[in-house]
Amino acid sequence: MKIQILSDEMASRIAAGEVVERPASVVKELIENSIDAGATEIFVWIEKSGTSVIRVTDNGEGMASEDLALSVERHATSKLQQDDDLFRIATLGFRGEALPSISSVSKLDICSRPRGATTGYGLGVAGGKKDEIRPAAAAIGTTVEIRDIFFNTPARRKFLKSPATELSHICDVVNRMALARPKVHFRLQHDGRTVADYVPVSNGKDRLDQVLGAEIAKELIAFRRGVGEVTVHGYLSAAPTSFPNTRYLYTFVNHRYVRDKVLTHAVLHGYETLLMKGQYPAVILFVDIPFAEVDVNVHPAKYEVRFRRQSDVHEAVSRAIRQALRQEAREPAQRMSPMPMSPFSGVHESSLPYAGSSFSQSGLSPRREEPFVLPPRVEPTGKGFFSSLHVIGQVLGCYLVCSSSHGLVLIDQHAAHERIAFEKLRRQMDDGKVEGQSLLIPQTVELSGGEMLLLEQKLGVLESFGFLLEAFGPGSYAITAAPALLPEGDYRQIVRQMVAELAEVDTLTKLRQHLEDRLATIACHSVIRANRSLEIDEIHALLRQLDQIEFATQCPHGRPVLIEISRDELDRMFKRVV
Ligand code: ADP
Ligand code: MG
Repeated sequence: MKIQILSDEMASRIAAGEVVERPASVVKELIENSIDAGATEIFVWIEKSGTSVIRVTDNGEGMASEDLALSVERHATSKLQQDDDLFRIATLGFRGEALPSISSVSKLDICSRPRGATTGYGLGVAGGKKDEIRPAAAAIGTTVEIRDIFFNTPARRKFLKSPATELSHICDVVNRMALARPKVHFRLQHDGRTVADYVPVSNGKDRLDQVLGAEIAKELIAFRRGVGEVTVHGYLSAAPTSFPNTRYLYTFVNHRYVRDKVLTHAVLHGYETLLMKGQYPAVILFVDIPFAEVDVNVHPAKYEVRFRRQSDVHEAVSRAIRQALRQEAREPAQRMSPMPMSPFSGVHESSLPYAGSSFSQSGLSPRREEPFVLPPRVEPTGKGFFSSLHVIGQVLGCYLVCSSSHGLVLIDQHAAHERIAFEKLRRQMDDGKVEGQSLLIPQTVELSGGEMLLLEQKLGVLESFGFLLEAFGPGSYAITAAPALLPEGDYRQIVRQMVAELAEVDTLTKLRQHLEDRLATIACHSVIRANRSLEIDEIHALLRQLDQIEFATQCPHGRPVLIEISRDELDRMFKRVV
C-alpha cells in the first residue's frame, strides 16, 4: 500500500503553511481575533521583527477557561453557529484555524480574562502540544504571545526575508487594520521602540494622517456613493498626484482588507486616461455590501473574496471613483494650496521609522515633475480657468505661454488638443452616435471565418462607434467610414482589435472600456503632431474648449496639459528666496 494517513501533527503543519507564511501573518490573525472580540485597544509588541516574540494584547471580551482550552483546537470557533452562517460572514475570522495553526509552528501562550470574571486563565501550547490551563493574573481582555516562530520548521525559517522586510510587512498589516478601524487604538512596538501609535479618532481622515502621513493624506479627497445595497466610499488622490506602484491602493470589503483584482481593476478604470502609464493613484476604498453578497471563504488567509454580482460591484466602484474625480476636476480650488506641493518622498520613513529602508527601495516617491503640475482653479472672475489666462504667445511651435494671477502657465498644445478630441469622441460614444466620415479610399481587412461571423453580428456595434464596414469579397470587409473626429489614417489594425475584443467581452460596458483605451491612442495620433504655429484667435478658441471639457488637465494618456509655475517657484528659481 502506498497511501498513508498523515499524522495529526503533520496535517497541522501543512495547514499552518497556508495561514502562517511569515511573522506578519501571525500579527494579522491575532489582530483579527482582537477586533472580532470587540477590542478598542490593540497593542502589538514584537522583538526581532517578530521572529523572536510577537505579543498582541487587547481589551476585548476575553475568554472563559473552557473557551480558552478549546480556542487552540483545530476547527474550533465561536463565530459560526449555524451551517448557513458561512454564507453571511460578519466577522474577520471564521475558520477556527489561526490559533491551532500558529501553535503548531511556534510556542504560543494565551492569557485571557472575560468581562465580569474575577480572575484570568493562561494556556501554553508548543509545537502543537497543549499544557494544562492555569489560573493567571490578567486584565480584562486577551494577550496572545508567540515565541520562536518556525522553531520546528527550519525550512520555513529559511524563507524569511531580511529583518527590515519582515518588519515592514508587519507595519503594513497594522496600517491596513488601522485604516479600516479608526476608532480602535493601535500601537506597534518593535524591540522596545514605538513604531506606530494610532490613538482613536472619530474621523477616518484623521486616521489617514496617522497612517499615511499628513503630506499624502492632505492630497486625498473623501468620496461616497451608494447604489442599491452597495455603498462605495473612501479617499482618493486626484490627478496628477500619482505613485509608481500600487502601494497606496488599499481595498476593503466590509472593512476587511482584501487584494481583489476586480476592485483594483475597477479603481484603475475609474482613473482611466487621467494617469500616465505605470503611474498609480492613492485610493483607500471601502466597499460595504450585504454579507450574503460576498464569499470570503476563498482563500486560507482570507485575502481574496468573490462577489456574487461581480460586474455590479465593478461598475459601482469605477463610477464612484469617476464621479469623485469629475467633481474634483470641476472644483479644484477647495483642495488646492497656492504653493506647489513639496515632493513628499520620505514621508513614510517619518511615520514608520523602521520601515524606511524597504520603503525607499521600492521607489515610492511621487513623480518628480509633480511639484510643478497643478490642476486649474476656478478663477474669481467667473470665467473658466483657461479662458481667464492672459496669452503671451507660443514658443517652439508647441507650447503656449500664458500668465495667470498666480504666475506663469505653460500649456502643451498637443496634449490639450488630444484631450479635447478624446472628450468629444467620448461624448459622442456616450450618446451612442459617433459621427462617421466616409473614407476616400476604403480600407480592406482580411478576416478568418470565425472573425467574419463575429463581425457580421457586431456590425451595428461598430457602427455606433463610427466605423462602417461592408462585405468585400469572400474573406474580407472594407472599412468605408471612420469617426469624423479622427484624421484619415490606417484603421485596419483598430478594427481587427475591436473584432478580437468583441469575441472576448460580452458586455457593452467592457467593450467601451477597451475602446476608450484605443481611442485615447487614436486621439493622441489624430492631432497634428508637427509643430504648428497658432494664431491668437486659435489659441483663445483652444483655451475656451479646454474650459468646456472634463479632465482638461491631463491628456488621455495622463500627461499633463499644463504646468503652472507660481510666483514662489519663480522667486526660488532666481534665488530671491531660498
Ligand atoms: P477564528 O477566529 O476563525 O474563530 P481562531 O483560531 O483565530 O479562529 O480563534 C479561535 C477562537 O478563539 C475564536 O473563535 C474566539 O472565540 C477565540 N479567540 C481567539 N482570540 C481571541 C481574543 N483575542 N479575544 C477573545 N476571543 C478570542
Ligand atoms: Mg481568528
